Amino acid sequence: MWIRRDDLIDPLISGNKAYKLFYNLIEARRRGASTLVTCGGAWSNHIHAVAAAGSRFGYRTVGVIRGEKPPKLSATLSDAERMGMVLHFVSRMEYRKRGEKDFFSRLDLQAGESYFIPEGGGNLLGVEGIQLLGEVIEDTMPVKFDQIWVACGTGATFAGLSLTMDRVRVIGVEVLKAGDSILRGVCEWGSRLRCANKLLDVARVDYRTALRESLIGGYHCGGYARYPDWLRSFHFDFEAETGIPLDPVYMVKVFNGLSDRISKGEIPIGSRILVLHSGGLQGRRAYIK
Ligand SMILES: *Cc1c(COP(=O)(O)O)cnc(C)c1O
Repeated sequence: MWIRRDDLIDPLISGNKAYKLFYNLIEARRRGASTLVTCGGAWSNHIHAVAAAGSRFGYRTVGVIRGEKPPKLSATLSDAERMGMVLHFVSRMEYRKRGEKDFFSRLDLQAGESYFIPEGGGNLLGVEGIQLLGEVIEDTMPVKFDQIWVACGTGATFAGLSLTMDRVRVIGVEVLKAGDSILRGVCEWGSRLRCANKLLDVARVDYRTALRESLIGGYHCGGYARYPDWLRSFHFDFEAETGIPLDPVYMVKVFNGLSDRISKGEIPIGSRILVLHSGGLQGRRAYIK
C-alpha cells in the first residue's frame, strides 16, 4: 500500500481542497473578482482553505456558516476569522436553501465583485482541478496501482479521479449516508465534462454500473462526522503504528474500510493500492484535544 500525502502539500491550503480551489482561483482572477464567497459548517476544511487562499492571494473572503453563531467560535472559524474571513451565520433552516438562486443576494453580504464557490469546492472547476491531480498520479506512479482509494463527501474528488484515470480503478469510501446522490453527481459532472474532454463516455450503462460498484457505502459509521469509540481506537492504533496523522471525518473512515475489506479477504493478495490522503487535519481539533 502506498499513501499519497496531499495533507502535506501546503500548511494551510491542504489536501484535496487545494486542487478543488486551483481553477476556481484562476477563474476568480480572470473575472476580476475582489471577494470569494463560500459556505460550510463550523469545522469545514473547505472554509478553512478558502480563508487561507483569500489571505494568501489577496481576496476578501466571506463565509456563510451553517447554524447560529455560538458563544465561542470553533478553532476552524477562529482561524478563518484571523485570516480575514467575514463570517455570516445563518440558521440551519435558512442554510438548507443555499442551492436557491437568490440565496446569496438575499443575505446582503456587501461582497463587492464576488466569486462564488459552492460548499466543499464541489463545482465543475473543482472537479477539473482534481483531474489535474489524476493526471499527475498517472504520470508519476512508481508502479502500476490496481486501485486508488479516496474519501467521498460531495464526491467531486472521486469524480475527478475516476473521470481521468483509465488505467487504475478508483474506489470511493462514502463518509456519510449518501444514498445514490454521489453516484448521480459523478454522472452529471461526467456528462458536463464530456464536452470539454472526451476521456470517458459516462452515458454508457456499463460505465455507470462500474462506478456504482466502486462507491462503498458501508463505512460512514452512522453518518457524517460520526466518530464512535471503536473508530477512535482504530484511529489511535493506526497513528501509533504508522506515524501518519488522520482526520476523524474522512481519512479514518477510508482506512477503516480498506482494513475491513483486506481482513475479509476481499482484496486479492499482491494488489497494489494507493490511498489518497486528502488532508483535513485541521478538523482533528474538533475531536482530539
Ligand atoms: C472535503 C474533504 C473530502 C471530500 O471530498 P469531496 O470531493 O467532497 O468528496 C475528503 N477528504 C478530506 C480530508 C476533505 O477535507
